[in-house]
Amino acid sequence: MKSNSLVTKRVNKRKQALSFEKMGLSDEMVAKLYEVGYEKPTPVQAGLIPLAMEEFDLIGQSQTGTGKTAAFGIPILEQLELDPQHAATQALILTPTRELAVQVEREITKLAPNHHVRCCCLYGGRPIKTQINQLKKGCHIVVGTPGRVLDHLQRRTLNINKLWFVVLDEADRMLDIGFRPDIEKIMRQCPTPRQTMLLSATLPPPIVLLAKRYMHYPKLLNFSSKIAVETIDQKYLTVPYEMKYDILVELLEREQPEQSIIFCRTKLGTERLYRKLLKTTDFDSIGTIHGDMTQSARDRMMKGFREQSVRFLVATDVVGRGIDVSNISHIINYDVPELSDDYVHRVGRTGRMGRSGIAFTLVTPDQGGELTRIEQRINQLLEVDELQGKINEARGKEIDARPSARTSKKRYRRAL
Ligand code: ADP
Ligand code: MG
Repeated sequence: MKSNSLVTKRVNKRKQALSFEKMGLSDEMVAKLYEVGYEKPTPVQAGLIPLAMEEFDLIGQSQTGTGKTAAFGIPILEQLELDPQHAATQALILTPTRELAVQVEREITKLAPNHHVRCCCLYGGRPIKTQINQLKKGCHIVVGTPGRVLDHLQRRTLNINKLWFVVLDEADRMLDIGFRPDIEKIMRQCPTPRQTMLLSATLPPPIVLLAKRYMHYPKLLNFSSKIAVETIDQKYLTVPYEMKYDILVELLEREQPEQSIIFCRTKLGTERLYRKLLKTTDFDSIGTIHGDMTQSARDRMMKGFREQSVRFLVATDVVGRGIDVSNISHIINYDVPELSDDYVHRVGRTGRMGRSGIAFTLVTPDQGGELTRIEQRINQLLEVDELQGKINEARGKEIDARPSARTSKKRYRRAL
């Protein structure tokens, strides 16, 4: 087994190389990458891909929007054994949401240099029959959400005897308490030896410790000097609860976002805000997405958002992770996220691949503790937006721009 310092040295050398040609990829793969417009590997790709091809288990941390999907997708595609007659499932990629599973499947299909590669997507809310038929025909790569994947394993409609690669995308979310029992069950059924890869923009040490239980001497590689992306301008406003709606509308009118996600904490709150915006504003293209909607409505909404017919998407954290839509210019945290890592992921829906973006967070005067926790997590102070003066004036008194440290006792049940 190679020592960690040796690996680090090699990774640094590869980061300097920063060229797809110098990474030991096949000519077809390199040609495909240029064809889809990838000119050079991002640091996480340059660092992880060659190690993944050497069959190391890897835990990779890298900021939002830095190309982690291709960092695991390329080594899978390069090492697939293609037998179109008998397409055994060789790679399993697990994601926390259905929308992300669809996106990852598309990205991998886009990068496949060989059109014989069969990739399929298994997620809930869609007829299981169609998925069973697809699996019967054979899928080299399966992308899915834990619940539905487990369902297929229990029905024996998904055969993973030939599996050699497992990925947990958004690994910290996959190993948090909500998903862990399902992940444990899936991992127990996956063959050993196999190669396991975990990726996220946030990987707290306890999660890394836990992750090692599923892995074989994993290499831990961190490509982000800062947790949050530097090209995102991050601002906040201290707004009393009853003024939040008006301030949101004013902010949207002032900022004229190209596309924006407006995050709320609860499904009910999301639906209410969406309806209110529809009723009381003349913004033409408002949409919503949350877990109480049917999957076909969710799919329609995502399609509209990707095609830009939806400009403002009022959403729960269901689109807080992984979702890649390049025209999102503004993120608005109408409600402060419950966890500060969720803040990092929400704002990371903008400012992807070096682009700039802007994020506003509305905090009520008693949510100072939550604001401070976010600032500690990203190791950076959020700036006060200039609209604060107007809010203070409207309240008829001078208030501190900064909310008080007293934290609201109200807890919300985590539901997307
Ligand atoms: P992450 O998972 O790190 O948040 P994604 O894998 O979603 O990031 O990639 C972000 C965007 O960057 C996607 O649109 C993807 O197609 C694009 N991308 C990935 N790698 C490259 C590259 N080497 N060059 C240019 N664009 C890339
Ligand atoms: Mg991702």
